[in-house]
Amino acid sequence: ELYNRMIEIKGNIRVFCRCRPLSVEEIGKGDEMALDFELAKDGELVVKANGAPKKMFKFDAVFCPDEDQEKVFEKTSHLSTSVLDGYNVCIFAYGQTGTGKTFTMEGTKEARGVNYRTLEELFRVVRERQGLFQYEISVSVLEVYNEQIHDLLLSGNQPGVTTKRLEVRKASEGLHHVPGLVEAHVNNLVEAWEVLQAGSKARSTGSTNANEHSSRSHCIHCVMVRGANLMSGECTRSKLWLIDLAGSERIAKTDAQGERLKEAQSINKSLAALGDVISALANKSPHIPFRVRGIELGLAKKQFDNLEVFKNKQMVEKAKQEIKYKDFQIKKMEET
Ligand code: ADP
Ligand code: MG
Repeated sequence: ELYNRMIEIKGNIRVFCRCRPLSVEEIGKGDEMALDFELAKDGELVVKANGAPKKMFKFDAVFCPDEDQEKVFEKTSHLSTSVLDGYNVCIFAYGQTGTGKTFTMEGTKEARGVNYRTLEELFRVVRERQGLFQYEISVSVLEVYNEQIHDLLLSGNQPGVTTKRLEVRKASEGLHHVPGLVEAHVNNLVEAWEVLQAGSKARSTGSTNANEHSSRSHCIHCVMVRGANLMSGECTRSKLWLIDLAGSERIAKTDAQGERLKEAQSINKSLAALGDVISALANKSPHIPFRVRGIELGLAKKQFDNLEVFKNKQMVEKAKQEIKYKDFQIKKMEET
């Protein structure tokens, strides 16, 4: 349903489908495919049930089980340049637990995922633009679990252990921020990756069952970019969001009790809210219901504007000194 709504939004939103290869257990059981589907023309995918066509979905691209991380990244690699050009970008993985969200986003050391590759490309372009542009980059890592935000870079604030309660605050119409969120300044890929890994580690050590926990919370990596074009003096401010969402499977309320029920309700609520936001965007509705049902919504758009460790003015002054140029203007940030 969410896919269908997302693909109605042309232009700014792209939807890809990735079918993972079979696991050893599935092969053992004699399964042939993780998802029984057929590819029609133009990215159309027909999901089959017991061999018979059941539903048709259309995607911008479909990745088959044999397509590797590099193939998947190819479709989003240009987004690193968009971020450095001042656009806000969000890449998220949506799907049931076990479908390959974490593998796709985080990946492994041997098979790097979207997160690593996107950062690698980002810093490659930063180097390429050296002398023409000046960039300052910082990262935050947080997770949303049971409608609560945990800062994963804040030591001691591990999942489930609420040492400090963070909240999304409304700054002004359409602008929200999370006061107190840690933002780490990074100079290169190694530093950025170290910080993001530290966040991931805090997430898994803070829970008794790391896999279960991670499939029940949304993991959010935010990369904040301040840029200055040293020729024109134009300044940009943008954010890149890399999000591994909680599993989209519906946990029947009758099957869940206590903590599990609470988790299920939180996830259903937040993913339904995400669907509403996407619907509104698809329908070009004048009102986009960010933040109407839960805190996750506040994270969906550009905010965290309290996080300005960067003194934009200072940066401009610095740039001015490097190249004597008249008027520096702040480029109006484009919304994605
Ligand atoms: P999710 O995060 O959606 O719950 P995972 O990313 O943990 O799912 O994937 C479930 C399992 O399948 C993991 O063991 C993962 O390594 C494996 N897997 C998922 N996608 C792929 C893929 N494209 N290639 C190889 N293994 C994959
Ligand atoms: Mg996962």
